[in-house]
Amino acid sequence: MSEQVRNKILRAALQNALDHGKTQDKIVLGKILGTEPLLRTQVKEIMPAIIEIVNSVNQMSQDQIKRQIQDKFPDLLAEKPKKQEEREGLPPLEGAEHGKVVTRFPPEPNGYPHIGHAKAAIIDEEYAKMYGGKLILRFDDTNPEAERLEYYAAIKVGLDWLEVKYDRVKNTSDDIELLYKKCQEMLDGNYAYVCTCKQETISANRREMKPCKCSMGELEQNKDRWDKMFSKFGQGDAIVRFRGNMSSENTVMRDPVMFRIIETKHPLLGDKYRVWPSYDFAVAIEDSVDGVTHAFRTKEYELRNELYYTILDLLKMRKPKVIEFSRLGFEGMPVSKRVLRPLIEEGKVSGYDDPRLPTLEALKRRGIRQDAIRKFVLSLGFTKADTLAPFETLESFNRKIVDPESIRLHMVKNPASIKIKDLPSSTITMPNHPTKDMGKRTIEHDGGFYVESEDVDKLKPGDAIRFMGLGNVKITSQSPLEGQYIGDGLGTDIPKVHWVAQKNAQKIKVLIPSQLFIGEEFNASSLQEINVFTEPHYNELKEGKEIQFVRFGYCRKDSMLQAIYTHK
Ligand code: ATP
Ligand code: MG
Repeated sequence: MSEQVRNKILRAALQNALDHGKTQDKIVLGKILGTEPLLRTQVKEIMPAIIEIVNSVNQMSQDQIKRQIQDKFPDLLAEKPKKQEEREGLPPLEGAEHGKVVTRFPPEPNGYPHIGHAKAAIIDEEYAKMYGGKLILRFDDTNPEAERLEYYAAIKVGLDWLEVKYDRVKNTSDDIELLYKKCQEMLDGNYAYVCTCKQETISANRREMKPCKCSMGELEQNKDRWDKMFSKFGQGDAIVRFRGNMSSENTVMRDPVMFRIIETKHPLLGDKYRVWPSYDFAVAIEDSVDGVTHAFRTKEYELRNELYYTILDLLKMRKPKVIEFSRLGFEGMPVSKRVLRPLIEEGKVSGYDDPRLPTLEALKRRGIRQDAIRKFVLSLGFTKADTLAPFETLESFNRKIVDPESIRLHMVKNPASIKIKDLPSSTITMPNHPTKDMGKRTIEHDGGFYVESEDVDKLKPGDAIRFMGLGNVKITSQSPLEGQYIGDGLGTDIPKVHWVAQKNAQKIKVLIPSQLFIGEEFNASSLQEINVFTEPHYNELKEGKEIQFVRFGYCRKDSMLQAIYTHK
């Protein structure tokens, strides 16, 4: 037998043993014949070699197997990471080298994290993981007017909840001195200038594609004005502008702002600094010095890429690769702070955790799990087209996760009373889950029950219904509604009803959130509040527990007195 065939056998045996610990003659034979159909006529000849090689491979430790593969068939190892990428549902990253990828999630601490941030952070993390790289959490905090200390914390809490793990955390404001230095370099190179025009003049010039007098000033003038930005000038008196091209088709390039004066105290640095970089300048410098290799941001920033790369070119700094993805939002659920803040301030929603909102706090409170969010985000993939995803898609990922963990309880919304005679016992024991072993609960009753009005309003004496978990009941009177226990036999077409024992019924509220906006219109009835009766066992559940109210849907226990509807 040729050396070539022996090698093929060894290769198949090693690969199989790598995947499964041990290998077998028959499996190796199958693999060989699968790839080398010509050998099918020579099974007798090759079989002894297979047995011998399989035997020797089965004597090796996993380490020895790996070493052999590395020596003789390194391509087998190279194939591994590829498989993993496919499983993650994200396309491979252009120019990504294993172990060298650095991504960053750069939120501005100016609001609570929401589903859009979840998308960005999860994609940043998944790519870092996929390539054995690193994720940086960088607070983009260079606009003190909008930023508050509580938001730094809220964002971290949100990421913890999402189980997004970062390797490093920093603030753009940590690097303020470096950013000044880089600005100085830009001014020295005459790539930027200080402009003292009024805001209206600047806007008009941008529209009319006209440069202003300041842009023609000498280097000395710029140097002098830059110094004054730290002393004499006040907010609005002067800005540093990048020297772009006032007649560029790309409006971003029409001499954009690089630094401005903001008198408001910074949440971390107080009033130590008042000259702050613009987003565009800070993000380019920071990504470069932080070692970011792949910088993701949402599509509406696409026009800013030219500025980003040009700044780094002029400063001769390393350029990360900027990649855009679509913004994620839900129909009728605003993510933008511009829309959210007034809703809260005007009291139209109760706060950042109002269950109608797509903030992480709200989704959590509503009963959406972090792993459902991750699956959902990855299922959307990496499209550039803006995604107004149907909330139902997130719900269906969530349902799969909560269903096996949710206790089943009875809950009655529109109660009708019924008295039942001849019940065999004054207690009823029911399983907490139909298929999982989640224990049982026992309910005491005195023959008086609440049932759903709509389940009983058409019943006539003589009709039979099945009380779930209890047995069959024959209606004996319509008004008042009364019945008689008639045994436990499973009739085929007896309608099933759920019930709550009156003796120990718990009055709680269920909040049912729906779309906050219908089109542009605020939906005043987007939070329905219903008073319901449920079982005493509700009291024993921890806050935050997911419940399936039988024949109603999944809800999350929000407090002793209130549950929030999650989904069907
Ligand atoms: P907002 O309108 O909420 O202020 P933003 O883009 O200014 O949005 P940042 O806190 O600056 O919010 O964003 C941090 C990161 O999250 C950025 O990389 C941004 O691109 C991304 N991001 C923000 N909103 C969304 C969204 N709806 N979908 C996907 N990514 C988003
Ligand atoms: Mg922002």
